[in-house]
Amino acid sequence: MTIKFDGRVAIVTGAGGGLGRAYALELARRGAKVVVNDLGGARDGTGHSDAALAVVEEIRAAGGTAMSNGGSVTEYEQMVEMVARAKEEWGGVHVLINNAGILRDKSFAKMEPADFDLVVKVHLLGSANVTKAAWDIMREQAYGRILMTASSTGLYGNFGQANYGAAKLGLAGLTKTLHLEGAKYNIRCNTIAPVAGTRMTEDIFPPELFEKFTPENVVPAALYLVSEDAPTNMMVGAGAGAFHAAYVTMTPGVALPEGERTPEGVAAAWEKIIDRNGEIVPQSGAEQSMGVMRALQALG
Ligand code: NAD
Repeated sequence: MTIKFDGRVAIVTGAGGGLGRAYALELARRGAKVVVNDLGGARDGTGHSDAALAVVEEIRAAGGTAMSNGGSVTEYEQMVEMVARAKEEWGGVHVLINNAGILRDKSFAKMEPADFDLVVKVHLLGSANVTKAAWDIMREQAYGRILMTASSTGLYGNFGQANYGAAKLGLAGLTKTLHLEGAKYNIRCNTIAPVAGTRMTEDIFPPELFEKFTPENVVPAALYLVSEDAPTNMMVGAGAGAFHAAYVTMTPGVALPEGERTPEGVAAAWEKIIDRNGEIVPQSGAEQSMGVMRALQALG
C-alpha cells in the first residue's frame, strides 16, 4: 500500500521548523499542495519572522507545491483568511495538522496567569480556531482528516508544564467530540503525542537522544493518521521510530446500595472501584452513562 496525497490540500500549522516542517515536506513529496503556516516566533511565543517562507522554498525546490502563511493560530480571522485562500487557489482543504505550539515552563507555584493563558491560547484555542475555519469546507466536500498534537505531558503529566499539559489534554478531548460530529461527513480526527528533538526539546534531551528522536521519525504516524484510510478517534504516541496507542479507559466499578452511598462507602469499595479487570474504552460520553446503567442493573 502506497500512501499518496495527490489532489489533496493540506494545512500544517507551525510548519516553519521542527515537526511541522517535516510533516509539510513529506506531505508535499507525496503529492499534497501544502499551506505552510508559521508565525515564526520564539519558543515562548514572542516575536515573529517569515519562517514559513523558507519551508515553502524547500518544497518548491523539491518540485512540490506550497504557499506560506504567516498568520497566528490565535487569530481566528487570520485563520479564516488562510483557509479561504487555500480553497480559492486549490479548491478545498482536505488535511489539517494542528501542530503550532509554544512553551512557558515553570512550576505551578511560579507560573504567572499570563503564561497559563498564552499557552492554552496557542495550543488549544489555536487548534480550535483553525479547525473551525476549515470545518464547514470539510463537511461540504464530505472529506476531512484532522490531526491534533497532544503530548505525553497532557496524557500523563510532567513537572513544570501545568499550562501545557492542560492545553494538550484539552486537544485530546476536542478530538473525541469532533470525531463524533464529523463521522457523518467523512471527517476523521486523531491525536498524536510526538517525541522529537526540536528547538522545543533541545535543552531537555541529552545530545545522544536528540539525534535519535528526529522529527522524520514521527512523520510516518502523522501522515498515516491524515491519510485516506486513516483510523479515527485514536491517540498515537510516536518517537524515534517507536509507535503506540493510548486510551482513556473505564473500570466496571461498583454501584453502591443506597445506605452505602457515603464517603465511607466509597472508601470501603475503593479497591473494587479501581479494579481494572473488565475495563472498557468508551467511544463516547453516552457509553460511559451506559456503563453506569450496567453497574446499577447489577445491583438489582
Ligand atoms: P517547534 O518550536 O520547532 O515548532 C513549533 C512551531 O509553532 C514553531 O515553528 C513556531 O513558530 C510555531 N508557532 C508558535 N506559535 C504559533 C502561532 N501562534 N501561530 C502559528 N505558528 C506558531 O517545536 P516542535 O517540537 O516541532 O513542536 C511541534 C508540536 O509538537 C507542538 O505542538 C509541540 O507542543 C508538540 N510536541 C512536541 C514534542 C517534542 O518532543 N518536540 C513533544 C510533545 C509535543
